[in-house]
This record gives sequence, structure tokens and C-alpha cells, in this order.
Amino acid sequence: MNRVPSNKMALESTTSNKRETVCIFGTGDFGRALAHKLIQCGYAVVFGSRSTQLSSLIPKDAEVFSHAEAAQKASIIIIAIQRQHYNFLSPLAENLHGKVLVDISNNLKINQYPESNAEYLAHIVPGAKIVKAFNTVSAWALQTGIVDASRQVFVCGNDTEAKQMVMDIVRSLCLSPLDQGALSAAREIENYPLQLFPMWKFPIFLSLVLTTFFFFYCLILDVIYPYVNDNKDFSFFIAISIANQICPILALILLSLVYLPGVLAATIQLYRGTKYCRFPDWLDKWMLCRKQLGLVALAFASLHVLYTLVTPIRSFIRWRISGQTISQALNNKTEELDMTNAWLSDSYLALGILGFFLFILLGITSLPSVSNSVNWREFRFVQSNLGYLTLVFCTAHTLVYGGKWFLSPSSYRWYLPNAYMLSLIVPCIVLVVKFVLIFPCLDKPLTRIRQGWERKPQYSE
Ligand code: NAP
Repeated sequence: MNRVPSNKMALESTTSNKRETVCIFGTGDFGRALAHKLIQCGYAVVFGSRSTQLSSLIPKDAEVFSHAEAAQKASIIIIAIQRQHYNFLSPLAENLHGKVLVDISNNLKINQYPESNAEYLAHIVPGAKIVKAFNTVSAWALQTGIVDASRQVFVCGNDTEAKQMVMDIVRSLCLSPLDQGALSAAREIENYPLQLFPMWKFPIFLSLVLTTFFFFYCLILDVIYPYVNDNKDFSFFIAISIANQICPILALILLSLVYLPGVLAATIQLYRGTKYCRFPDWLDKWMLCRKQLGLVALAFASLHVLYTLVTPIRSFIRWRISGQTISQALNNKTEELDMTNAWLSDSYLALGILGFFLFILLGITSLPSVSNSVNWREFRFVQSNLGYLTLVFCTAHTLVYGGKWFLSPSSYRWYLPNAYMLSLIVPCIVLVVKFVLIFPCLDKPLTRIRQGWERKPQYSE
């Protein structure tokens, strides 16, 4: 039996692993980073450049040619050049005929041009097969090693075979290709890297508006009112007391706004008797940013916990407690423990602790790593059932805390209700509507509607 030396076998396997040649137009940052990665993965790389002089920045296994020469050496050409220079490709149209051209370009502004860069490239080189890919991967990520978040590569193109060839390259670079369909999807793909927290805009804007409103509302009731009426300066309330009113109020309102679109959608479906009618756009958008609303609410709830924990070391609180002790000593009278107050205080604390615990659980299950490891039913159980329970606990926490003031005329300063009362409006509406929707006379038709039943079928057989 012939024995093959092991070093020869190794050599043979490396040679057979050698992949096809890929051409890159442009020796800029992205071109070089991609070439480096391609060479690592066994591809031969040739550059098409305006200058054929080798530079120390170019990976040493790559070769540099003129654009026309480089185009002859590969069937796939990656255009690592800004869109505004694409005109130079027109005279090369013959050399590029039948080739797969990969457009990786991005713009500086959303919808900067009337058509996508990839469609523009198709217009300039009509004989080539254009594929859009790699635009969401950065040169930096290619050089430093790709982390999970940037692993996805959106790919689109009209030629299925060309798209498949590009997706094979993407896969062999240990990236995940996501087929987005025809080349017309390029416009959307080109907008991805330019988006700035699209789902966070509404929650952040709403939080800012509500924070401003409640800040001035509490300032009027807790600082300006005592100053005007009793000439007492409580301006230091701004630092902790008012902040610790705003945080729980916003946490509760934002949490209830996570569940309000769900009950609104259910009411609309019940009213229309079908699920095959689109919701208004504003409701669709609101539903899409519920996770972000919930996370902002959790941030406010966490701040409320921190502000509450520092209460015992606040100078004002210590002054008030010592004042009460001294007045009892001076009057030589010990105050009896008020059992109702003791119960109320412990109950509201217990409800707050449980509510916050569930709130954290909701936040944890919304993390992609956790939500990916549970099935749809488990996810719904946590986000819907436990979510409503969290809302019940947090609303009860606020009700028990502020309940004693609701009927007291002294809490209506300048005829304005306490801020806590305002914070209860939305959560109470959500919980009441949800409670009504649980009744079988509404729940059963709603379940049927969600399974496809229609009160007045639009398309009768
Ligand atoms: P870059 O560093 O400025 O390189 C662009 C290259 O284009 C130049 O090095 C040059 O290569 C070539 N070039 C410049 N002017 C030209 C002209 N008038 N005619 C022909 N070729 C010209 O840019 P880059 O960062 O590599 O970006 C290249 C493309 O990749 C852009 O469309 C960008 O949107 C896209 N992209 C970049 C990144 C990133 O992280 N950088 C990420 C995703 C997508 P030669 O000197 O060799 O001719």
C-alpha cells in the first residue's frame, strides 16, 4: 500500500480548499478589510485600482491591476467605491458584461437619491448582474472580528444565481446572509445603517414631554404653593422629592402605555368583527415600540427604587423624625401605633417590591438572548399575563400610597389634584377595559376573530 507523506496530504487539502478569485474595485478602507477577510477564508483577491502601484496597506497575497485587467480575472466584482464615482464604470461596460457586480455602498442621508445606489449601478452597467450586499458590515468589524450584532448581511438582487454566489461568499466569511428579495429592496437596505434608534424615538420623546409636564406640575404644588401660601422655602425638593415623584409616575404611565395599544386593538377588532382590516398607522407604530416603552418604564422604576433607598439618610427626613420625637418627649406622651397606617405602609411597600420584581423579569425576558430561548407561548405568557400582573401590582402600589389623600381636601392645592392621582388615569382605564374583555361574551368572539372568523365575511365563497 502506498503511504502518502502527511505534509503532502496537508498541502493537497489546502490547495483543494482554495476558492475562486474575487475582484475588488477600490483599495480604500472597506476594499482592503474585505480583501483581508476573503484571503483568510481561502479566496484569491485581485484589486482593480486607479493606481497599480502596490502599497504596504494592501494585503500581501492580493494583486493590483487596472480596472479593466482585474475585471477579466474574476466573475464577481465587489465595487468598494463611493456612488458619486460610479461614472468611471461606464467605459468599462463591455469588460463588465455578464459579471456579478456587488454594490456595497451607503449614503450620507436617508433617501439621498431618487433611486438606490444598486439600481443606479444597474443603470450604468446594464449588462451586469447587480447584487446589493455587505453595506451593513463595517470595515472596522471586518478587521477586528465580527460580533453577533453585525453578523447579518442583507442581500438582494434580480438574478437568483448571482445572488446565490454572493450569499455563498457571505457564508464562507462566517456571516449570515439574509435574502431580501429583488434589487428594489436595495433602497431600504441602504437606509438601515443611517437609522438612529428608530424604535426609541417615540418612547424617548413621550418620556421627555411627560417628565417636563410632571416636573412643572409638582413644582407648582410642592414648591411654589407652600412658598406663596405659607412663605416656606421647599426649593430643595427639586433634587430628590420631585424626582422621586416623577420617576414612579412615568414608570406607571409608560407601563400602562405598553398595554393600552393591545386593548385598543382588541376593541377595534371586536367593533369591526374582523382582523382583516388594517389598524390605523399610529396604532401599528405604537405597537411596534412597546418593548422600548417598557424598557424606558423599567429605567424610571429603577430610579424610583434608588431615590427611595436614600430617603432615610436625607437631612429633611431626619429633621422631621427628630422633630416628632422631641415633640413627644416635650409633651411627655408616646403616640400609639396607628394600625391602619402600619398596614397601609407595609402593603404599599410589599406591592411595590413585587411589582418591581416582575418589572425586572419582564425586562430580562425582552432581551434577545432570553426571548430567543423561549417559545412563542412562553414569551406571550411572560409579556402578557405577567405584564398585566405587574401593572396590577404597580397600580395598587400607587393607589394604596396615595389613596388616603384622594378624598382629603388639603391635597387639592389650587384645586389641582395630586400628581399621583393623574398617574392612575391611564393604568386604571387599561385594567378596566382588559377586565371587561376577559368576560366570555367578549373573549370568545375576540378569540374567534383572531383565528380568522369574520362577522360579515368580505369574500364569500
Ligand atoms: P474609501 O476609503 O474612501 O475608498 C474608496 C476607494 O474608491 C478609494 O480608495 C479609491 O480606490 C476609489 N476611488 C476614489 N475615487 C475614485 C474615482 N473618482 N474613481 C474611481 N475610483 C475611485 O472608502 P471606503 O470606506 O472603503 O468605502 C467604499 C465603499 O464602501 C463606499 O461606497 C461605502 O459607502 C461602502 N462601505 C464602507 C464601509 C466602511 O466601514 N468603510 C462600510 C459599509 C459600506 P483606488 O485608489 O484604489 O482607485
